[in-house]
Amino acid sequence: MITIKSGSVDGADVLVIPVLSNRVPAWDNGPAIDLDDHEVLLDVKDFSGKANQTTFIQTPGGPTPEVLLVGLGDDVDLEVVRRAAGTVARACSRYETVATTLHLVDLDDAAGAVALGTWLGAYSYDEYKSESKPKVFTSLVLVGDDDLSDEVDAARAMAEGVVLARDLVNRPARDKSPVVLAGIAKELHESLEVTVYDEEQIAAAGFGGLEAVNLGADNPARMVVMRYLPEGATKTVAFVGKGIVFDSGGLSIKPAAGMETMKTDMAGAAAVMGAMQAIAALGLTVNVIGITPFTENLTGGSAQRPGDVMRAYNGKTIEVLNTDAEGRLVLADGLALAVEQDPDLVVDIATLTGACKVALGPLIGGLMAIDDDAAHIVETAAEAAGEKMWRLPLEEEYRSFMESDIADMKNTTGRWGGAITAGLILSEFVGDTPWVHLDVAGPARADTTEHYVSKGGSGFGVRTLVSIARSLAS
Ligand code: MN
Ligand code: MN
Repeated sequence: MITIKSGSVDGADVLVIPVLSNRVPAWDNGPAIDLDDHEVLLDVKDFSGKANQTTFIQTPGGPTPEVLLVGLGDDVDLEVVRRAAGTVARACSRYETVATTLHLVDLDDAAGAVALGTWLGAYSYDEYKSESKPKVFTSLVLVGDDDLSDEVDAARAMAEGVVLARDLVNRPARDKSPVVLAGIAKELHESLEVTVYDEEQIAAAGFGGLEAVNLGADNPARMVVMRYLPEGATKTVAFVGKGIVFDSGGLSIKPAAGMETMKTDMAGAAAVMGAMQAIAALGLTVNVIGITPFTENLTGGSAQRPGDVMRAYNGKTIEVLNTDAEGRLVLADGLALAVEQDPDLVVDIATLTGACKVALGPLIGGLMAIDDDAAHIVETAAEAAGEKMWRLPLEEEYRSFMESDIADMKNTTGRWGGAITAGLILSEFVGDTPWVHLDVAGPARADTTEHYVSKGGSGFGVRTLVSIARSLAS
């Protein structure tokens, strides 16, 4: 990882200076450079200072041989700073040492935002590239004397959690079987207690949704429970992540194009793992339980058939009319197990429905809750984290859509309101526990590389989950 610490601009290869719209210097650049003496820097053609715009300028006689101007637009918040830092990380890859005054913006935790954006922007997934890794710079200097190590260290814990989630999503399904993923969970932070249910324990416990989805796969399922129980904690939050390692749709099989990115269908579980790692590294004083049911959804000779009925961990039965609506089946078990731990709040995160992506597009997660207070906690946490979530209503009248002729409910609900009706099915498994459902089918995967996001697994949700834990910490 890039080294990030405060220090002098001397010796850096390039100085990165933030600029607002209309080329207004963003703020006093302090010890680095007096912009009033360098009007030439801001008299650059085709540079307006809009967000994430960059331009390099040769500066002979300046504090560094080159300066990079980076635009912040005219409404600067921490997310704008993260994005600018991510943009800079990519733009400066050919250098060794980069200095910046971007952290001098007048916002709490600006240095943390610069560090997080830098590390995430420098991310690339290269486990399967035979050529050597793409180059990134080795050191970022935050110009000045202030000790920013606490902010930077906290950002590092967050960045490592997001990077873990991205790596897990980007890895091909063949190399992340449930057994492999359970093994990775066991190797996370030393303060996590990890319990893994194997296939026999899954059957014995009655995780009937996980078992049913796994019927068509040769690789056995795993239910993973990660517990972080620090001294002094008074509140408990449980996170449940959908861990479909690969989703072919099962016998209700997907068309080829719809399957290309289906290694992403464990992104919810990956976000929970990344968040557990980050929360433990940050040492937050809150009990956190992470639950990730893992299986592939395949078409083997024992696969569940449309019309089959499964019984979830809480005893409720679901008639499975479409085997491609499998996420709700494994989440039913995960949620029922979560509420049994008596948490103050349960949050599930899942690439659950294409309908949610249709409704909100690729950048916004759907947020659903019955309890307004629970919804408010998660909305506030997501906003603080810089991740976009939008609340959809869990309309009680739509509950009739899930009525089954032979079981307690069916797993299909018709075409309309698919994100909402999926959320309503999940609500059958949480009892009275305050609960929020996050459908991240859109933002879990990025179609393009921009600012601190790179094409592929985005790690979306890790920051919101950590932010929730932070808000409940004592
Ligand atoms: Mn599916
Ligand atoms: Mn799925």
